[in-house]
Amino acid sequence: MKVAERTSMAKEFELFDKMSKHEQVVFCNDPTTGLRAIIAIHNTTLGPALGGCRMQPYNSMDEALEDVLRLSKGMTYKCAAADVDFGGGKAVIIGDPMTDKTPELFRAFGQFVNSLGGRFYTGTDMGTSMEDFIHASKETNFINGLPEVYGGGGDSSIPTAAGVLYSLQATNQILFGSDELGGHKYAIQGLGKVGFKVATGLLQAGADLFVTDISTENLQAIIELATNTTGTVTVISKEDIYSQEADIFIPCAFGGIINENTISQFKVKAIVGAANNQLLNDVHGRMLHDKGILYAPDYIVNSGGLIQVADELYGINHERVLAKTKHIYDAVLGVFQEARVSRKTTEEAANEMCEKRIADRSNRNSFYTSAAKPKWSIRNLS
Ligand code: NAD
Repeated sequence: MKVAERTSMAKEFELFDKMSKHEQVVFCNDPTTGLRAIIAIHNTTLGPALGGCRMQPYNSMDEALEDVLRLSKGMTYKCAAADVDFGGGKAVIIGDPMTDKTPELFRAFGQFVNSLGGRFYTGTDMGTSMEDFIHASKETNFINGLPEVYGGGGDSSIPTAAGVLYSLQATNQILFGSDELGGHKYAIQGLGKVGFKVATGLLQAGADLFVTDISTENLQAIIELATNTTGTVTVISKEDIYSQEADIFIPCAFGGIINENTISQFKVKAIVGAANNQLLNDVHGRMLHDKGILYAPDYIVNSGGLIQVADELYGINHERVLAKTKHIYDAVLGVFQEARVSRKTTEEAANEMCEKRIADRSNRNSFYTSAAKPKWSIRNLS
């Protein structure tokens, strides 16, 4: 075959190259409801794939595919780090969440989820709400994160915020030799569902907070709350939050906020927050490391919500969820220690811990049991 022909063949099949690290990618099309969605299952070594469903007006199929492949891989690591019996998956619905949602569209999506027979569990993510998944759950049982009255765990920001506070304690242990949250300065970006609860916990412990949010309502609420605590609140502009003199920066708004521009401004000793995908690229983890800023990997810090969603498999129990969430403290401390010993960035150390956990389970799964007799043994008997 000529080189030109081979190149063209490669182009024809590049979809398979893109998904070569994934187990399965499902394209969902329902012209009647307008549903166009992609479900990506990255790795199910630890259990069925788990991951939320985003709805976004993607500009192209490639953009949607890239997002779902990246996010589903991230879920494999997040599930492994949280030590839940789930693997990594994710779904994206191509559409505008403001104008394109209908109950029938989500029922159609539910049918596609159901067709996977339990290989994929999903629920809300950016652009989708619990309400949407109440519709989807009429077509499938493989939905989690529903409201409590529908048998789900309800608001996941409670365990997520608890996990951030445990991570801050672990970080303070390294920075100051004590878990104490009070007596230190924190810069918080975003006082939404998670950030507000984290700020509340810190104020109650007597911490000094520098906060920013684009919502004046949220800022007013935290100022009022501070008056009943021993902590203090100072409002900072959204541009100045990165250069604020504080001990720890707590990103709780959006991803990609650790980048070349912000790294040059940071004056903090550590970054510990709930936002997903905080490092714009892997190289920024190395840059933080070189600058001597301790970074707690986001997918461990913010895994409280995932722990709750995964717990629904056993019937929701909030006490058990909070008990499991406490392990985030040990996980963060473990990653800090491993990174120091192996001279890796904390992100590299966390990723390796997850990969080892998956490899260990993979090896254990090859254990021979009589219930799963390989065909050759039957042949040998005959
Ligand atoms: P949220 O939407 O309730 O809160 C985000 C807050 O950030 C809002 O108050 C918003 O006004 C503020 N904000 C937006 N742009 C801003 C800006 N430029 N500067 C300052 N503030 C800004 O979201 P949430 O549920 O609190 O989640 C926060 C982050 O944590 C997100 O990145 C989310 O993906 C991640 N996360 C959340 C959970 C959960 O259980 N809710 C779990 C894991 C990860």
